[in-house]
Amino acid sequence: MEHYCGVFGCITADPWPTDLDVAQLICRALIGLQHRGQESAGIVTSYGGVNAKDMFTHKGHGLVNQIFETADLAALKGNLGVGHTRYSTHGGCGSNTTAVQPFVVDTVHGLLAVAHNGELINAKKLRREVLKRGVGLSSFSDSELITQMLSLSPPEDPDDWPRRIKQLIESSPLSYSLVIMHAKKLYAVRDPFGNRPLCIGRLNRIVNCISDNTLPAIGWVVSSETCPFSSIGAELIREVLPGEIVEISSKGFKSLGILGRPDDTPPAFCIFEYVYFSRPDSYLEGQMVYSVRMNCGRMLAKESAVEADIVSTIPESATPAARGYSEFTGIPYVEVLCKNRYVGRSFIQPTTRLRELAVAQKFGPYVDNIAGKRIIIVDDSIVRGTTMQPMVALLRNSGAKEVHIRVASPPIRHPCYMGINIPTKEELIANRVELDKLAEYFGANSLKYLTVEGLKEAVSERARTERELGHCTACLTGQYPVALEW
Ligand code: 5GP
Ligand code: MG
Repeated sequence: MEHYCGVFGCITADPWPTDLDVAQLICRALIGLQHRGQESAGIVTSYGGVNAKDMFTHKGHGLVNQIFETADLAALKGNLGVGHTRYSTHGGCGSNTTAVQPFVVDTVHGLLAVAHNGELINAKKLRREVLKRGVGLSSFSDSELITQMLSLSPPEDPDDWPRRIKQLIESSPLSYSLVIMHAKKLYAVRDPFGNRPLCIGRLNRIVNCISDNTLPAIGWVVSSETCPFSSIGAELIREVLPGEIVEISSKGFKSLGILGRPDDTPPAFCIFEYVYFSRPDSYLEGQMVYSVRMNCGRMLAKESAVEADIVSTIPESATPAARGYSEFTGIPYVEVLCKNRYVGRSFIQPTTRLRELAVAQKFGPYVDNIAGKRIIIVDDSIVRGTTMQPMVALLRNSGAKEVHIRVASPPIRHPCYMGINIPTKEELIANRVELDKLAEYFGANSLKYLTVEGLKEAVSERARTERELGHCTACLTGQYPVALEW
């Protein structure tokens, strides 16, 4: 299982600008993608050779800036590279070092490095097939499986990576966004459903602190999200399209074609990227994520307004939705919770008790803003319900007169097999407590979720893509993009 992760690739233009340090740049970009995974990270660089001495690797556990010391970065030499930051999984290979990406394997065609975000929906079947062909796998990671599948495929022509990638795409419909490095090239690949994000950027020279796109490009980048671009002097060129293979060399990038989806079904871009995962300053499908979240808040207000004195957020992920709710209703937006930024993420704690303690430690009440007020408290999503219960208690203890919960996404009822860390059906609060009992369960006066239609409308209204629009709502509706096969 390889979950929600961040991938990044960089290649310098020809001639190589000597002041451009690829490892430094990738490290900085990974810090920008840190929200996509805090468990481990790695960078692999090269000068374009395919022998062991030509590739440089550094990986580790923890946050990006803890893993890469100055000396580690200095040892990562070369003019192209890939990086990865990985999310904690809910079992299996959690702290297994062999699962830390990017994966580097030696193949008949030379060294290959792969960074993957996603989870193969038919991993079990593919795993059996690979094992049957006599390949040993060192981890339970889908990403290693992908790497092995790529190196197993014919044809023999060492330069025919496009064909090997096509075979991979044909053997698994989703989900993967990949950055593959072989010899002097990078390949950016998105599964035919476009389930996970991936985009291409142009690296500009920075003149007087400003990225100058009137000068020739000094390199090209591939990234899960656009949010690191402003910190590295890159600008968005476009998204990799669903099913597309993009080849990137020091001369620029070119599309090697788009592989269709089975039966011409619509794309299935993960709607949860909009709800929670992506950083709000990123652009997805031509729209800024913050704006989409505001739109979700407006839609939520339209669907389920209630009289109150203030609207507030569970910081920070729900803030744009709370602002949208406030804008639509005219009810003032007031902060009620102070977030302790030094507490780690509560969601990834291994047990419910630890998660509850982490939540309690994460927020302090702004009592003066709460006392005597009728409060609408907005969260972006409710998964297990661990966050909401102590939040309502905190507001009540601080003197809130009424607490109305509004959730800027629909109830999550189904597990995700495509890379999102959603627990089993039984752990999901929407399956444990009936919807009309949920307000009472949390100790609130009322509780309303955004509808699936409302969410779809909020994310589609201003989307601009070169292709048909389509979102995966499996965790909300149980409608998976393809039939599940084990
Ligand atoms: P719950 O506490 O109900 O289990 O999870 C919902 C809360 O966790 C929300 O505040 C939401 O912002 C956040 N959240 C939702 N999905 C994820 C996730 O996959 N990872 C992390 N770290 N937080 C999440
Ligand atoms: Mg949250």
